Amino acid sequence: MGKDTVSPSKRKPQTRPERRLAVGADQTEVDVVVIGGGVNGTGVARDATMRGLRVALFERNDLAFGASGNNSGMIHGGLRYIRNDPEVTETSCRDSGHIQRIAPHLLFRIPFIVPVERERKIWLRLIDAGLEAYDKFQPLKRGKPHTLLDPYEVRQLEPGLAGDLVGALTFDEWGIDGPRLCTANAVDAEERGAKIRVGCTVEQIERDEKTGAVRAVRYRDRRTDQAGRITTRAVVNASGAWAPITASLGALPAQRARVRPGKGIHIVYDRRLCNYAIMARAASTPPATSGCRSSRTSSTIAVTSTTSSRRPKRSGTW
Ligand SMILES: Cc1cc2nc3c(=O)[nH]c(=O)nc-3n(C[C@H](O)[C@H](O)[C@H](O)COP(=O)(O)OP(=O)(O)OC[C@H]3O[C@@H](n4cnc5c(N)ncnc54)[C@H](O)[C@@H]3O)c2cc1C
Repeated sequence: MGKDTVSPSKRKPQTRPERRLAVGADQTEVDVVVIGGGVNGTGVARDATMRGLRVALFERNDLAFGASGNNSGMIHGGLRYIRNDPEVTETSCRDSGHIQRIAPHLLFRIPFIVPVERERKIWLRLIDAGLEAYDKFQPLKRGKPHTLLDPYEVRQLEPGLAGDLVGALTFDEWGIDGPRLCTANAVDAEERGAKIRVGCTVEQIERDEKTGAVRAVRYRDRRTDQAGRITTRAVVNASGAWAPITASLGALPAQRARVRPGKGIHIVYDRRLCNYAIMARAASTPPATSGCRSSRTSSTIAVTSTTSSRRPKRSGTW
């Protein structure tokens, strides 16, 4: 390993869930019920079947109906954690590398430009230093090192950028087609023996009154209105924003699956606004960042998005 690459962090010893679930497995129809057909649910289902577990996945709507089918499609490299938690940056880049090996046909490159105005000149050097640190992680995800652009070069790449620019920086990220990733996960899981039930709502999680252990899941097919029950040894709550509601289906307090709301807005245009992903301050809201992203899967749309960096005042609310 060269000196510019990142050494693997020490990993904690992992318990093997498939071994724990193997005990008494013949008494239930499946080992694991996964609730939710987003990227987490389908990924867990695929992973569990690859470990030899018997899996059933229930999705109330369609695969990728929730956040997984409605996001920016960016595979975060964890740049924002580089200062305070570089291990997260490393894990994110490593994960991006895994996704590239698993689904290279679903990837697309997202080159970012960070323009810097003359009045904020100091940021050119500061961001440059941050991205230099980020470059060390790029080999984990086949990313290109960052570059420093002068004002002329920025205008060449993005003629529409306004303001008195002192220069810009570039860095490299990857994007993925989320709905196709969910579908590919589910298809692969099914081919390995998983039962994938789309259009099926989980209505109740039965648990042993004394031990609290999961016994079965009750569900309803939304097309036929037919109810069903499947016995299982474990349930994975992969229902995203609905996780607290899903927890209550097993008589667990909603706090057991807390979700912290984060503000994110997408505006989709019917044409391209820019050639690259642009990271810039929103005009009238200094604490927020906004990115203008070029099209992901087609060259005829553009998406602008904002992500709030503010957190809720009271922690633990959702
Ligand atoms: C605007 C926006 C932009 C984002 N951009 C990015 C990005 O660029 N990169 C990134 O990595 N992340 C991004 N995210 C975050 C990312 O989309 C989510 O973290 C991720 O999709 C969560 O996946 P999930 O599988 O946990 O949940 P979801 O995809 O929401 O899936 C949950 C599923 O559970 C199902 N469900 C709920 N209750 C039941 C039930 N009782 N029975 C059966 N099914 C049920 C729902 O129908 C849903 O399909 C973004 C999010 C948003 C909102």
